[in-house]
Amino acid sequence: MSNLCWIRRDLRLHDHAALAKALSQGETTIVFIFDKFILDKLTDKHDRRLTFIYESLREIESEVQKKGSSILIRYGDPVDEIPKLSQELKIKNVYCNRDYEPYAKERDSKVANKLASLGVNFEQFKDSVFFEKNEVLTLQGGIYKVFTPYKNKWLEIFEKSGKTVSDFECHLKNLRKFSNPKNILDHDWYKDIGFIETPPPLTGGSKKALKLLKDFDSKIDFYEEKRNFPSLPGTSNLSVYIRHGNLSVRDLIRAAISHRSEGAKTWLSEIIWRDFYQMILDSFPHVAKGSFKKDYDKVKYSGGEKEFNAWREGKTGYPIVDAAMRHLNQTGMMHNRLRMIVASFLCKTLLVDWRKGEQYFAEKLLDFDLAANNGGWQWSSSSGCDAQPYFRIFNPYSQSEKFDPKGEFIRQWVPELSHLNGKDIHHPSPLLAPEYPGPIVNYEANRKRCLDMYAVVKST
Ligand SMILES: Cc1cc2nc3c(=O)[nH]c(=O)nc-3n(C[C@H](O)[C@H](O)[C@H](O)COP(=O)(O)OP(=O)(O)OC[C@H]3O[C@@H](n4cnc5c(N)ncnc54)[C@H](O)[C@@H]3O)c2cc1C
Repeated sequence: MSNLCWIRRDLRLHDHAALAKALSQGETTIVFIFDKFILDKLTDKHDRRLTFIYESLREIESEVQKKGSSILIRYGDPVDEIPKLSQELKIKNVYCNRDYEPYAKERDSKVANKLASLGVNFEQFKDSVFFEKNEVLTLQGGIYKVFTPYKNKWLEIFEKSGKTVSDFECHLKNLRKFSNPKNILDHDWYKDIGFIETPPPLTGGSKKALKLLKDFDSKIDFYEEKRNFPSLPGTSNLSVYIRHGNLSVRDLIRAAISHRSEGAKTWLSEIIWRDFYQMILDSFPHVAKGSFKKDYDKVKYSGGEKEFNAWREGKTGYPIVDAAMRHLNQTGMMHNRLRMIVASFLCKTLLVDWRKGEQYFAEKLLDFDLAANNGGWQWSSSSGCDAQPYFRIFNPYSQSEKFDPKGEFIRQWVPELSHLNGKDIHHPSPLLAPEYPGPIVNYEANRKRCLDMYAVVKST
């Protein structure tokens, strides 16, 4: 019986639910499709995420070639490509892991219908999250909308299961043996898909991901103390690998529970936040287009293009914000504390609609993930399910003094300020740094404007 395993955001050969199932059923071919609908939206032909995916696929190809196999690559609409391939290869079963984004759900249901009409079995698996939406429910069987009780329930179910973390073993000897002239090691797929190789700061693939996870093992106990300081290597830096599935969520949980420290517990909480936001997107797909609390769509943001462009380019005159945005623009990465600072700054100090910031992050972040990004922006703008209250407005100066006390991170990314000492750097005077722009808006004045702007929500 011939099986197809369609890999998407799960670019690995180990602990892979769909691949394990396919291989257990017999001869299996792996396919990856460069989805034209996703690629068409990427205007930057140097998008580093494509190279990250390419590197991940190359690593997989080298591994499967050792078994005499190859991964088939296609470019186009998966709704056409998967059924076409199933017919060409006389496939009986198509397997893939579930994706909870609205576009993916719609696409997969179309693929399922087409395959059904051809008599091909289509099955999807839970793989990218530890618990799906119907597994962590309130006592009344409802969906949690607040993180802490969700997390407590998540942990309770996990404890009750005896902390079982299954491993989906993939027997690669069952891969179909064939030679593939258009394999990704020999064929220039960049040309076919219209992108240009642009290496990201982190190389794609499971080898690098597993190495980073191993390195993090010696840091996890200090996670709680160090995770908020962008100039320290206090976090795992794994998000881009997690996003593309170079690691499984179970790899992460195994790593977390092998320690008993507060640091490891806090890190596990972050993985649970990830499950939480995936569950929110799956249960309430309207969040992809607007506020979770629909009332917040009434807020009229008064900030315009001038403020948005200054934020985007890292020229707001607020050093911590500018350093973070320049870092993002140059590397595609941003520390969590800085994401919170710049997101709050955009919508609550520059008074620009959070959806513009969300979109900009979607274009730039190497680890962009719709559920986590949307959750982070809705948290910062107070429009989300379990968001900070609208009157909590981050003060960029005190955040900077607290989380970059010596100005090390700022100094690295804002060269105009590199000569300033740790005290002056957070709030530089034009006399000390004439080349650096003055603050584009007054923080205190805009704080008041922000509270007025949100009054529409308060009063309803
Ligand atoms: C405005 C905003 C936008 C964000 N956009 C994204 C995004 O597009 N993609 C993304 O993966 N994360 C996003 N995050 C969450 C978080 O900032 C990143 O996951 C984290 O900075 C990645 O660094 P790390 O791998 O070193 O994380 P660690 O601190 O080592 O955490 C381990 C993993 O847990 C997950 N995680 C951590 N924090 C969160 C969180 N708050 N929500 C969901 N998952 C989390 C990530 O997969 C992360 O790699 C966003 C946060 C904010 C405030």
